[in-house]
Amino acid sequence: MLTIKRVATVLSNYQDDAYDKQEVGCGRNCLGNCCIPASTLPLYAFQKEQDDSGEYGEIYPSEEQPKPSFLNLLLEQWADRMRRGLFRYDVTNCKSKIIPGKYGFIAQLNEGRHLKKRSTEFRIDQVLQPFDDSKFNFTKVGQEEVLFRFEQSNDCKSHFLASAPVTAKPNYSPNVIAINVSPIEYGHVLLIPHVLDCLPQRIDHDSLLLAIHLAKEAADPFFRVGYNSLGAFATINHLHFQAYYLEVPFPIEKAPIQRISTEKGLQDTGVIASQLLNYPVRGLVFEGGKSTQDVSDVVANTCIFLQTSNIPFNVLISDCGKRVFLLPQCYAEKQAIGEVSQELLHTQVNPAVWEIGGHMVLKRREDYDDASEAYARRLLAEVSLSEERFQEVKAYILEAAALQATNMKETEVNQAEDKVYQKGDSLSKQRAASQANQRVSYDCMVLQ
Ligand SMILES: [Zn+2]
Repeated sequence: MLTIKRVATVLSNYQDDAYDKQEVGCGRNCLGNCCIPASTLPLYAFQKEQDDSGEYGEIYPSEEQPKPSFLNLLLEQWADRMRRGLFRYDVTNCKSKIIPGKYGFIAQLNEGRHLKKRSTEFRIDQVLQPFDDSKFNFTKVGQEEVLFRFEQSNDCKSHFLASAPVTAKPNYSPNVIAINVSPIEYGHVLLIPHVLDCLPQRIDHDSLLLAIHLAKEAADPFFRVGYNSLGAFATINHLHFQAYYLEVPFPIEKAPIQRISTEKGLQDTGVIASQLLNYPVRGLVFEGGKSTQDVSDVVANTCIFLQTSNIPFNVLISDCGKRVFLLPQCYAEKQAIGEVSQELLHTQVNPAVWEIGGHMVLKRREDYDDASEAYARRLLAEVSLSEERFQEVKAYILEAAALQATNMKETEVNQAEDKVYQKGDSLSKQRAASQANQRVSYDCMVLQ
C-alpha cells in the first residue's frame, strides 16, 4: 500500500478532531438524515435545457421575484457567512501576486489554510475507495455552512427560494453548495451532489453534469469548478467539487492547444478533444458538443476510465462550463516512493487542481517571497505524467471516450428501435459493445 503523510485541509468546521459527537436527535442542525428531512433550506433551481426532464418537483410561487444572478447570490451568501465568522481565517487578507514570466502563474500566501499541524496518513494508490461512514463526511456539516441547495428546475427558468422545506419529494437527497471553511479565494464553495447518498469521491455522469451546470449558471469565466480524485489530493472521500471566483485568467486557460483528430464516435457528438501544448502538466481539453450534456458525457466517460484504471486525475471546468481540462497526475505516487525532491516537499504544497491550473497556494512566507516561474514549473513537472506515459494514457482515454460515445449512440438507437419494433435484437449489439469495453479495461490493466 502506498501512502503519504500530509496535513489535511479542513473543509468544514465540523471536521475538527475536537468535535464532540452528540446523541441521536443530533441537535446540531446538520446535513445528515437526522436533521435534513425536517429542515428548511434555501433552494436555487437552475434552468433546464430543452428536452431535459426536470429533476426537482418543486412548485414555484407565481409571484416571482426578478431572476437572480446566480453568481451574485452565491457571493452575497458567501460574504454573509464570512460576516458570521464561519471561516477559519480571512482569505481577503491573503496576499496574492502574479509571478513574472511567460506563464503568469499566480501565487498566494495562505498561512491560515494549514494551521492544523498534525499530518495524517493518506492512502494514494487507490483512486476508488469505498465510502467510510466512520470518517468525516459532509453529512456532518452544519446547515449554517450551506448557502443553498442546487437543483435542476422543472421549467426553462432559474428560480431562487430563500426558504423552502426539504421534504418536497420522498427519498430526496439534495445537492448542496456549502462554504469551504479554509478558502483559497473569494467565494470558495463546495458542491456536494446528493449529500445524503454518501457517494465516495468518484465521478459519474450525473455529478459531472451538475458541476458543469454550476459553472454555466455562474456565467462568469472567472468562476471555475474543480475536482480532485483520490490520489490527486482530494482530502475527503465524499463526492464533492470545489469552486471559487478569481478575476485573473489561469495560465492553463491561456496555454496553446492542439486539436486531436479523434475517432468517429467522438466526432459524432461534436465534442472536440485537444492536447495542451507547452504547459508543464500534460493534459487534455474537451469543448464543443451540441449540448452541455455532450461534453459532460465524454469527459465523464474519460474520468470513469481513469478511475477504473487507477490513474489519479484532476478536472478543471472553465469558461462558464464550455471547456473542461482533464489532467492525469502522478505527484503523490512519486512522493510516496521518494522521487520528489526535498526542496519541493519542504514547501508542502499539494498540487491539486488549482495549483495545476496555475494558482499556487503557498503556506510559507519565504516561499511566497521567493516564488518564481522556475519553481512553479519544477513543481508542475513532477505532477505531470512523462511524455511516453501520457501518450499511452491519451490513446486509451480517446479510445474509451469514442467507443463509449458510439455505445451511447447505439444504445439510444437501440432503445428507439425497441420502442418501434418491440424486438430484442439489440442484445447482440450490446453484447458486442460490452465486449469492446472489456477489451479496453483489460488493455489498461497491462498499463499499470
Ligand atoms: Zn443532525
